[in-house]
Amino acid sequence: MEATDAAERKFNWKNWSTVKKMGHYLRPHAWGYAGGVVIISLSGVLTLLVTRLWGQLGGVGASTGEQTELESPLAMLQIDMGNLTQIGWLILCVLSVQAVLSFGRVILFAKMTEDMMLAMRRDAFEAIVSMPMRFFDTRRVGDLNSRVSADITSIQDVFTTTLAELLRQIIIIIGGILALLYFSVTLTLLMLITLPVMIIAAILFGRFIRKLSKRTQDQVADSNTIVQETLTGIISVKSFANEAWEVLRYLGSIQNIRTLAMKGAIWRGAFASFIILFIFGAITLVIFKGAELMVTGGLASEHFFTFLLMTGLVAGSIGGIAAQFSALQRGLGAIESLMELMDEAREDVITEVDAPLSPLKLMGDVRFQNVQFHYPNRQDVQVLSGLDLRIEPGKRLALVGPSGAGKSTIAALLLRFHDPVEGHILIDDQALGDFSLTALRKRMAFVPQEVILFGGDIRSNIAYGKTDATEEQIRSAAKKANALAFIESFPEGFDTVVGERGVQLSGGQRQRIAIARAILRDPDILILDEATSALDATSEKEVQIALEALMQGRSSLIIAHRLSTIKNADQIAVLADGRVQEIGTHDDLLARNGAYKRLVENQEIELI
Ligand code: ADP
Repeated sequence: MEATDAAERKFNWKNWSTVKKMGHYLRPHAWGYAGGVVIISLSGVLTLLVTRLWGQLGGVGASTGEQTELESPLAMLQIDMGNLTQIGWLILCVLSVQAVLSFGRVILFAKMTEDMMLAMRRDAFEAIVSMPMRFFDTRRVGDLNSRVSADITSIQDVFTTTLAELLRQIIIIIGGILALLYFSVTLTLLMLITLPVMIIAAILFGRFIRKLSKRTQDQVADSNTIVQETLTGIISVKSFANEAWEVLRYLGSIQNIRTLAMKGAIWRGAFASFIILFIFGAITLVIFKGAELMVTGGLASEHFFTFLLMTGLVAGSIGGIAAQFSALQRGLGAIESLMELMDEAREDVITEVDAPLSPLKLMGDVRFQNVQFHYPNRQDVQVLSGLDLRIEPGKRLALVGPSGAGKSTIAALLLRFHDPVEGHILIDDQALGDFSLTALRKRMAFVPQEVILFGGDIRSNIAYGKTDATEEQIRSAAKKANALAFIESFPEGFDTVVGERGVQLSGGQRQRIAIARAILRDPDILILDEATSALDATSEKEVQIALEALMQGRSSLIIAHRLSTIKNADQIAVLADGRVQEIGTHDDLLARNGAYKRLVENQEIELI
């Protein structure tokens, strides 16, 4: 859907300055493009020359033997323009030169454009992955992906073909009209006031017809939806005995198709008549006038033939130029939106592959001080209002509370996906914002509720925690995560491909892969967001063993609603109204007879 929207986006010339940023990608190829322009110009001129020579061939054949004078541009070729063989050879030579030029042009433009596309694709991807989380909160990822790839394709079209074609056609139109004027001013003026007008009218007419047929297609899609709905809901249709009603509904829709299609047919018929009468009529008028001039001796026969061929060439170029203009406009719109994307504010993360990263070692003393927060896109919902919280080095803090209380938000703030609106988050007495974002996140590990594995084998999925891990480290992490047994039960072991094109792992297995990933990372701060919530009791027990191994000696923030996950925590914080309502150990809180006890009694904390 979004791709078509992107394709139809119109460029606004006011935004030319955004397009100028494209210069960054064009500059390295400035000489290449200059060469390309020379080649295209040359090739355009040669096309005109070949047309002229074709006309000469026709004219010589038709002439009555008297030799017309050679006109100046061809005189220097020193060729006998009355000799068919010589003209034939000359045409062959020109065509050969053109063939070589065209090949060179295509390769040259492809090379430059592909280099540019490589740089743009890399930069666009880099820009997207460097966006802060609030960017992804307000966009659908699929749309973003298809929009960017549609934009890049439009830009690619502009630089591989559109600009070259546009230039070639402009040269042919201008050069062709000059040549035509040279042969016969009267005839040229006659041609110019008829053909281009008709061609442009035909193009506009064609667009209108395309719009009409698009409406018919939409209507067809609508009627298919009715069929689809009826069949999916066939139980309801039958049980309510509503067959007749459905038939009526469908009939309404298909009658619409017929009406629209007939309307389209009438306009298509009119279009065909228009072409026959007006375009072919205009051509006939020009030929008629030319023939008349030839008979009265005002125009040499080879000039008349050349005139006809060149008129065809010019008319074709006028017809083609509209398509190039709309491709150009689409491309400019695409450049604009891509440049805007690249200009968006990014997170301060490191994206260079081999950038040096100063190693960081944290004790893991985490403090939230009077933190207030609302999401940038939901200003009216205050999620945290004056939150104070501390995770002592190496200790476990569990967060509990009703859904929507802000538990995941606390995890997101700690990962610095967002910054607090008020208050401070400190790690080892240093503000979170003072750390290098990449270095900081590299010292944390996050095990989410829904683990998404990357397409690839189990080995590379575990190694995501430490991309340069050795085979031995990966194995040992899998063992600690209680995952080795099931991995080895697959015939291909660590080489087993998972994800869309591979085996589907169960929720518990995926969780343990995620835990192995976290173990391999060896983080100072661990964040578990409902890491066991989707599991049945048996898997839960296995994952729990793995989690115990992982949490050993690290500062851990645990979001959970299962007693087995939280009861061993050093502290449990009960969250309500964006603040900590109660805090203490499991036994303390139960004894206190407060909010925690109520959560347990109401089974909002599950007792398994
Ligand atoms: P919990 O983890 O306790 O269930 P969350 O931290 O997920 O709660 O959510 C707290 C509040 O913030 C909820 O009202 C939720 O609707 C809102 N919220 C969560 N994520 C976002 C987001 N990305 N954008 C806007 N609002 C959000």
